[in-house]
This record gives sequence, C-alpha cells and structure tokens, in this order.
Amino acid sequence: MKKTTVRILLLLSLSFISPVFAGNIITDSNMSIEEAFLNVNPDCPYEILENQSLIELIYYGYDGRLHKGQVVMDYRLADDLKAVFRLALKMKFPIAHAVPISAPAYFNGTEWDDNLSMADNNTSGFNYRKAYKQKNLSKHAYGYAIDINPFDNPYITKNFSVPPGAVYDRSKKGTFYTGHPIVIEFKRRGWTWGGDWANSKDYQHFQKVPSDSQSSKYKNYIKWDD
Ligand SMILES: [Zn+2]
Repeated sequence: MKKTTVRILLLLSLSFISPVFAGNIITDSNMSIEEAFLNVNPDCPYEILENQSLIELIYYGYDGRLHKGQVVMDYRLADDLKAVFRLALKMKFPIAHAVPISAPAYFNGTEWDDNLSMADNNTSGFNYRKAYKQKNLSKHAYGYAIDINPFDNPYITKNFSVPPGAVYDRSKKGTFYTGHPIVIEFKRRGWTWGGDWANSKDYQHFQKVPSDSQSSKYKNYIKWDD
C-alpha cells in the first residue's frame, strides 16, 4: 500500500473515531441567549435566572445521525450534563431533539408550555413553572431538572399520565429503565431519577440540586467542547 493511501485511510478512520468533528451535524437548535429566554415567566426571580446557562449538546437523533441541540439549566450542572451526553453519544443512545422551551413551537401565547414540548418528545430543562398538577415549584423552575425524550418516557401516576397518548414501553428506543447505563451515570453523579419515585413514575425526569462549590465561574453560554 502506498504511503498516501495509508494516510488517507488513517484520516478516514480518525474521522469515524471522532464523529463530532466530522462535520455534517444537523442543527436542531442554535439559539442566542436572548432567544433562549424570550417570554420567560416574569415571576421568575433574578437569583434563579442569573444561574441559568444555555448549554450546547451533541447527540444521535432518532434518525441515527448526529445532531446539535441546546438545553437551558443551572450552570453548575453543565459538567454533569455534558458527561452524561458524552456517554449517550458513545452508546449511540438517541435523543429526539433538544430545543429550549422558549421556542415558538412550545409557546402557547401566554407561557412556555411543557405539554407542547412533551408531546413533541423534546428534551428540555429550565422552565419557571409549578410541578405538574401541584402547587409547589418544579425543580425545572430552578434549572435543576431535565426531561429527556418525554413522549417515550412519560410521567405516570395512578390518576393520569402525560403527555396524552404516550405509552411507556422500554423496548422502544430512547427509553430509560432501571439499570440503564444513562440512569446509572446520572445517579453516580448524585442525580435523582423520576423512574425511582415510589408513588408515581416520571421516566423522562432527572434532577439534582447543585452545591455552591460545584463551580466557581458563572457562564451564560456553555459550548460542547468547553
Ligand atoms: Zn421533569
């Protein structure tokens, strides 16, 4: 084999090892900070808002191709989130798409609408809102929670399940279950999974309350390779 052929093959194999840098990434979300917080609930206290960051994520879509999306969460959780998504990438675990819930598709004219986001199987984090059918604030209100592939990982209680029409079937792609490597990785990092809850199951939901010591630097925009 000629030297040049070897070099080309080497380059090709390297590009397969590092698919993230191989180009041809489909953009699901490319919002600016302004767009990511457009129409944010005016009741959201500044102390919460100033901790939110817009985090870039790279993942395989349900089409098996590489995608770039974004999630808004507390900046202190960004390292955990990126580590988990790197595992997802390695496993080729698919994410339908990750678009901040401020997107026009999820705005109902009044507020960011989690029902629209869930029905669209959209992965999202921060949303200043109450917990579903409850009076207390959700962990999403602080940017401490993420819902992943929510249509395929519904929230099921004795009385209802959301989003409407969703059926939990762990044999489907993009689903979480006990012992799933992503569930294990989140828990190893101190996160709670809604699939472990006793009285209801929120298979899409992962949360963690960060400690102040987790990061020293406040960042608004966090790139995938930061
Ligand atoms: Zn949730």
